[in-house]
Amino acid sequence: MDREEPNDRVMTTGDETIMDERMMLDRDMVKCRGAMYRAPTRLPSLYIHVPFCVRKCDYCAFYSHTLVDSPKDFVVMYLEGLEVEIAKRRNDAPHGISSLFIGGGTPTALQDRDLERLMEIIHRHFRLNREAEQTMEGNPGTLISSKLDILRRYGINRFSLGVQAFDDKLLRAVGRMHTAGQAREAITRLRTAGFNNLNLDLMFGLPMQDMRAWQASLEEALSYSPEHLSLYGLMLEEGTPLYTRYTELTNAHSELKWLPDDDLQAEMQEWAVERLKQEGYSQYETSNFARPGYECRHNLGYWRGADYIGLGPGGVSCLDRMRWKNIEEVGLYQSRLQDGQDLCEETEKESLTWHECMAERMILGLRLQEGVNLTAFRNDFGVDLRDIYRDVLERYKNKDVFVVQGDYLCLNPKYSFVANSILQEFVGLA
Ligand code: SF4
Repeated sequence: MDREEPNDRVMTTGDETIMDERMMLDRDMVKCRGAMYRAPTRLPSLYIHVPFCVRKCDYCAFYSHTLVDSPKDFVVMYLEGLEVEIAKRRNDAPHGISSLFIGGGTPTALQDRDLERLMEIIHRHFRLNREAEQTMEGNPGTLISSKLDILRRYGINRFSLGVQAFDDKLLRAVGRMHTAGQAREAITRLRTAGFNNLNLDLMFGLPMQDMRAWQASLEEALSYSPEHLSLYGLMLEEGTPLYTRYTELTNAHSELKWLPDDDLQAEMQEWAVERLKQEGYSQYETSNFARPGYECRHNLGYWRGADYIGLGPGGVSCLDRMRWKNIEEVGLYQSRLQDGQDLCEETEKESLTWHECMAERMILGLRLQEGVNLTAFRNDFGVDLRDIYRDVLERYKNKDVFVVQGDYLCLNPKYSFVANSILQEFVGLA
């Protein structure tokens, strides 16, 4: 999975000016009864989940099937199901979609004919304007030129490559299936195929990674002049092979520093932020850096509170304050679609209250350098965020944690490392 794709999903509202009874009740609770709610007119974005990888990485807790262990017809079943789902869900975007992101998994693990069918199904049912950002993510070792030709032919204009490190020792330590050489080769192929909007994913905090190794990977990434970089710290997830290895090692050798500690990880992050600044990248979101004009528009939509449609097994959608997640298992996904059954378990559906929507807008928006747009917040929720969150803003006033810049409320960058604990303050406050 390309870590660029946010795990936290946000929701927002529909595309018309409405005032309904439900809203009036909620409005009453936030002391703005009578305010005219004006929903955003933005088009929803579209995410397609491709749940296949060549092999599972040792740290990965995402849902994906490994192609070698899957039944032969698994990909066909997936595509059959997806075709039915897409045909059903096209009505969720009658005016078109704002951006497309095909993620996973490893979408480029699909064979040429399957990739072509995937692209054809999407384009048959959804309207995308020519300028719309269309991203595909993939991993080194799976990018042959014929696949890139298919992607270009269907209008994919942005590619997100899971490099993680230009260092074979580190890649092996976390069970990545590719080598640094394959990453270099993939970048050359992508550029040759005409991709001039390229994201590279890199990870820090890998086993036995020191500052020098981190710097070497980032410097090499910079030498390819990517338009965008996503930098993430390794997360040790319980139940993964890496977690088991870590636990066994530290139980056996308590003094062993197998993973960089929190201080070193913070230094790695700080160094990267400064280095990328020197190179003209803006840290437009906590973990994302872009050359001017190359910020990921799809992800900006999530962070700014736009609606989204997520299709495929495990896909998450959020439309008009309803959020739901598709079942993950491919066989069940396909059979339910063929039988006309609901793809979502009741426990995976949530109707978000206005309070939850506002809190999400704050939490996600404050991860952005630009912050939360005051006018958009007022238009979408009928209240000024400075009124509704007066208490929390006052509490941090002396420390200059929050700054109003023009029409935006943003987080002072010097607090970005403790942002999570501060942002939690918005939950349940409105
Ligand atoms: S490439 Fe690795 S990290 Fe990404 S989804 Fe597949 S197994 Fe997980």
